[in-house]
Amino acid sequence: MASLKDILKEIRNLSTAEQIRLKEYFTKYLTPYADSEPVFKEVSERKHKEGYTCSYCHSKRAVRFGKYNVKAGAQTVQRQRYRCKDCKKTFTDVTNTPIHRTRLPHKWLEFVQCMIEGYSLRKASELIDVHYVTLFYWRHKLLSALNQMDVEQFQGIVEMDETYFLYSEKGKRKLSRKPRKRGGSSKKRGISNEQVCVLVARDRQKMTYSRIVGKGRIVKTKLDEAVGTKLSSGNVLCTDAWRAFMTYAKDKGLEHYRFKSDGKERVKGVYHIQNVNNYHGRLKRWIERFNGVATKYLDHYLSWFQFLDSIKHRNDDTTVSRMLVESCLFQTENTYDKLRNINIFQMKC
Ligand SMILES: [Zn+2]
Repeated sequence: MASLKDILKEIRNLSTAEQIRLKEYFTKYLTPYADSEPVFKEVSERKHKEGYTCSYCHSKRAVRFGKYNVKAGAQTVQRQRYRCKDCKKTFTDVTNTPIHRTRLPHKWLEFVQCMIEGYSLRKASELIDVHYVTLFYWRHKLLSALNQMDVEQFQGIVEMDETYFLYSEKGKRKLSRKPRKRGGSSKKRGISNEQVCVLVARDRQKMTYSRIVGKGRIVKTKLDEAVGTKLSSGNVLCTDAWRAFMTYAKDKGLEHYRFKSDGKERVKGVYHIQNVNNYHGRLKRWIERFNGVATKYLDHYLSWFQFLDSIKHRNDDTTVSRMLVESCLFQTENTYDKLRNINIFQMKC
């Protein structure tokens, strides 16, 4: 076997073009992987911030249990394995995370970068050399994890407003209704069951809730299911004039300011719904790039946008690793089959 000295000598003998190719090889197969190590380290530290914790039963009686090898790119690295003394299961830092069982962990950071840039799957596929169908599943595994990030408690003034998206079965082979022209609008006037209601609630610290709450006009019970546990008597609601908001605020005994959608009175001092309306505007513009999102995935896209909005579209190494780290802190048991079959209305309505 050649010594390193010999190899270096050989490299010097290569043509400039060959040397450049070699450099590209090293950049592509070695460096990105090294970059992903801090992410694994951070996931590990945050998961076990109160001592080793079982990924399955959350018992604190977990111990280190040998190492395992991971092959990634041109390298093999060792990772920590753990064992739970209570449920006896073994697990790793990535068990049940989006990057569990992927053979290409080093590609994930590059893919997250593409997601932050908002690249299409095809473009991302060309850039990082992973099939776009695989990337579709990566996207949704990541988003189903991010989707679990939730507001615990709103502070002070909370702006709430609903916005509507056309119900869509994009990607499904057999439609249960006649197809619409792309970008077409619902035939029925006003808000109907062809529209999916998304509730956005946001306090002034910019803690944001944005989820599908059902089909058609929002009703009081759905409001309570969505944000009931996040509100307390100290909150002040600012909403549009829709009746459901009024009766809801009354039931909860919350101070409430309403703003008519004719826009005549937009602000009452610090009370207004302009932050949430601007949020809707940004969300709608951002989501246009996907040419219609299947309703079953809409919640995923909402959390994607929410994440991007929370980092103010900063795109640097910190942001990229944060997105991956955050998503690895949540369990996702989404298999490819489950992802294909999500029926949001069975789950939520
Ligand atoms: Zn356990």
